[in-house]
Formats: sequence, C-alpha cells, structure tokens
Amino acid sequence: EAAISARGLRKVYKGGKGQPEKVALEGIDLDVPRGSVFGLLGPNGAGKSTFINILAGLVNKTSGTASIWGFDIDQNPRQSRASIGVVPQELSTDVFFTPREGLEIQAGLYGVPKSKRRTMEILRSLGLEDKAEAYVRTLSGGMKRRLLVAKAMVHDPPVLILDEPTAGVDIELRKQLWEQVMELHERGVTVILTTHYLEEAQELCDTIGIIHKGNVRTVQPKDELIKSL
Ligand code: ADP
Ligand code: ADP
Repeated sequence: EAAISARGLRKVYKGGKGQPEKVALEGIDLDVPRGSVFGLLGPNGAGKSTFINILAGLVNKTSGTASIWGFDIDQNPRQSRASIGVVPQELSTDVFFTPREGLEIQAGLYGVPKSKRRTMEILRSLGLEDKAEAYVRTLSGGMKRRLLVAKAMVHDPPVLILDEPTAGVDIELRKQLWEQVMELHERGVTVILTTHYLEEAQELCDTIGIIHKGNVRTVQPKDELIKSL
C-alpha cells in the first residue's frame, strides 16, 4: 500500500469578487511509495501547495479521493491527519513562543500524552537546549526551519511533507536541513517535498512526480528528466 495515494483529485478555486474560477488540480492520480523520498516537481502555480494543503486538511478538494497511510481523508480524517507532519513554506509562525512552548503546543494539538512528549530530548538533538526558553523570533532562519521540522514530527507520523523547504535558504542551512530530513528518512519516515528546482529533485529524491497544469507523471531521477519535461 502507498504512503500517499490520490485518484482523480481535483481542485477548482471558486474565485469570487469578480475573480474567475481557477482549476488548480485537474484530477491527479498519484501513488507515493512507502519509505521513499518523493519529489513533487513543478513550476510556480502548478498546484503543489494546493495538493499538500488538501492532504493537510487545510483546503477542501472539489472531487476525487486521497488517502494517507491507507486512511481516506474524508472517511478517516483524524487518522489520515495524524499520519502526516507538514512543514510549511513560511517561517513566520510562533514568533511569540519559545521553542519549548511551540513543541508543547503542537504535541497538545495532536493529543500526544504528556508522558510521551520528548520535548527536551528533541530540543537537545537540535542543539537548542540553551534556547529552549528564548523567543523563537530570536533564532536564526536555519534553526527556525529545523524547529519547524521537529514540530511537524512531534506526533511521530510515518510521513513528513515539506513545502518548498529550500526556498530562500543558503547552501549551509540547506545542508543542515537536509541532514535532519535524511536522519528521519533513515529511521523509516517517508519524505515528500515540493520543489521547482530540477537539480534538487534529481539530487535528493528517489522518485519524482512531475506536476504540470494540475496533472502528475511519475518518473525515476535516473530517467532523462529533461527529455520528459
Ligand atoms: P475553498 O474552496 O478551499 O474554500 P475558495 O475557492 O473559497 O477555497 O478560495 C479561497 C479564497 O482565496 C477565495 O476567496 C479567493 O478569491 C482567494 N484567492 C484568489 N486567488 C488567490 C491566489 N492566487 N492565492 C491565494 N488566494 C487567492
Ligand atoms: P504551487 O504551489 O505549485 O505554486 P498553488 O497550488 O499555490 O501552486 O497554485 C495553483 C494555482 O491555483 C495557481 O494558479 C494559483 O494562483 C491558484 N490558487 C492557489 N490558491 C488559490 C486560492 N485560494 N484561490 C484561487 N486561486 C488559488
């Protein structure tokens, strides 16, 4: 069974206020293999965020089906949501909290019992012990991003999704972020990232889904990607 599966997944934004409606996903068919590092590759506006936001329960699909770790997002919304951790594109969250509070709040939202929260352990593994009680806004951009990954994983989901994780991130931070993600992958977590960089998808991912005008085609990085684009 796939980690993520979509059939005929379609999204039409209604527009409103004189705006025309917009077909963001035309009817996606996609299977992300369990244990893979899957890259969803496509230009801006291709529908990547829409797809992720539907999985995360943040955007309503128009039609079609999707499931996460075997749980249908309509029939088993709680289990399907509990099966993914999502790292958003923006860094702006939590500026008024400390790293410890941010992790505690997230754990609470996901119903992780107090006895099972490994807040300080997580902070230690990020090298954030000393900053546990500092404001998140005082952390470096790289550390904020690592903290977002840790927050996404606080309920130990089998699937981690990162939306454009390296957008606006310098080479050194990108390396650190990627090491953190690969550690999770080595522990068995299925990783899905969106990107509009061909090189990034080719370098980091073992399977690539090319999203174009709301459709997805799956290829292997060793295929001649340029030709198939
Ligand atoms: P949903 O069906 O998920 O509730 P809607 O179709 O109601 O989504 O769209 C949400 C709102 O975002 C709409 O009011 C729309 O006008 C607005 N919006 C329009 N274009 C964009 C855009 N490119 N990016 C973000 N929001 C937009
Ligand atoms: P990507 O993440 O690949 O850049 P998006 O999923 O953000 O693509 O957007 C896909 C298409 O849907 C774009 O044309 C975008 O302008 C449009 N869109 C995204 N969000 C909304 C919204 N809330 N309302 C209307 N249109 C939207």
